[in-house]
Parts: sequence; structure tokens; C-alpha cells
Amino acid sequence: MAKKKDIESEKKRMEEIIGRLGKEYPHPRTALNFRTPFELLAATILSAQATDVLVNKITSTLFKKYKSIKDFAKAPLEELQGDVSSINFYKNKAKNIKACAEIILERHNGQVPRTMEELTGLPGVARKTANIVLSNAYGINEGIAVDTHVKRLAGRLGLTEYTDPVKIERDLMELTPRGEWRDLSHLLILHGRKVCQAKKPKHGECVLYDLCPSRDI
Ligand code: SF4
Repeated sequence: MAKKKDIESEKKRMEEIIGRLGKEYPHPRTALNFRTPFELLAATILSAQATDVLVNKITSTLFKKYKSIKDFAKAPLEELQGDVSSINFYKNKAKNIKACAEIILERHNGQVPRTMEELTGLPGVARKTANIVLSNAYGINEGIAVDTHVKRLAGRLGLTEYTDPVKIERDLMELTPRGEWRDLSHLLILHGRKVCQAKKPKHGECVLYDLCPSRDI
């Protein structure tokens, strides 16, 4: 952490934060619908700066049309782009999904890789997406997925002083037992959506009120 003030007391505060949020949100999981690791990868690529609700709407038909990695790899790009055109950046997202499918077939025996290094070598896949796939599809906690909610809550809760997602992730990893990494990300996202919203955080309804340095802001 930037301050290194008292790492042990910060770890205890984090434990309390996770405990309380765990009671509020007893089934933390990704809101994205998927059946296979590749479907989760594709859904996560589509979800950049878009809502999970919209992504699920698109993938409910997309995954019926393209049932396998091969289907995505051999899809004509323009057709695939048309199939996801209701989402932002659809041209690029479709291009990345198709390229991921091709590379996975060519270099990874048709299996979505299970390592951070291999995953982040795929087009359109940075640490956040890789963390989501590793933890949710494979149960591998390699890091903590930092999205816009995690970033905001980590800052407000004083768990980091950084704004760069990679540095935020490092701070959160330092304070949290590895076994909790996946759930922590989901818990902060759920709390960010329901209570600690970007524009109007509902401090008065927040179970973290007494633990939060931003409660009066
Ligand atoms: S007290 Fe307010 S700022 Fe702090 S976590 Fe709760 S809602 Fe967010």
C-alpha cells in the first residue's frame, strides 16, 4: 500500500468489510451469463463500458448461434459485428472475440488458457478480463478484477490511494487472503451498484459506515 500505515490493522478492517458485505450479499458471483470459459471470455470482452444486462441480452441469442469456439473463429467478421451491433465499440469487440477464438484454436488446443500470462496475450484481454475468466470459469485466484465499482469503492474505503487499476489490485491483494479475491471483487461490485453508487452514495444505509473514511463526504 502507498501509506503502509499499519498493514495488520488494515487487514483486520478488510476482514470486517468482507464479513459484513458477505452477509449483505451471500451469493457473490458474476452477473454475466455463460456456460463455458470461452462464453465468459466473450461476454467479458463485450462488457467493457457496457451493462451486464445488455451483455446478457445479446449473448442470450449470440451463444445460440455460435455454439463453440470454432463457430466464433470461422464466423465472417462483418456478420459477427452485426450480431453484437447493439453494444458500444461493437466492431472492435467482435474483432477481438473472433481473434481470440482463432488464437485459442491455433495455439491453445481449443482450450481457453488458464494462466494470466497466456490470457493477457489474447487480443482485447487485460488483467481485469483475465482475472474474471480465471476466477469465475476455473476457480483460480490469480488476482482481483478491478472494474469501475471496485476502483471507486477501494478509493472511498481508503483501501488504496491509487487510481491505476493495476496498483489498486496490488493494494487489495496485499490486504486480502487469496481465497477471498474472487468474492471481494463481486462484493464491492454489488455494494457499488446497490449502495455506494457513483453519484449518490447512500451512506446512511451502508453497513460499512463506521469503517469508511468517506462516510461524511
Ligand atoms: S459509507 Fe458511503 S462512501 Fe463509504 S462505503 Fe458506504 S456508501 Fe460508500
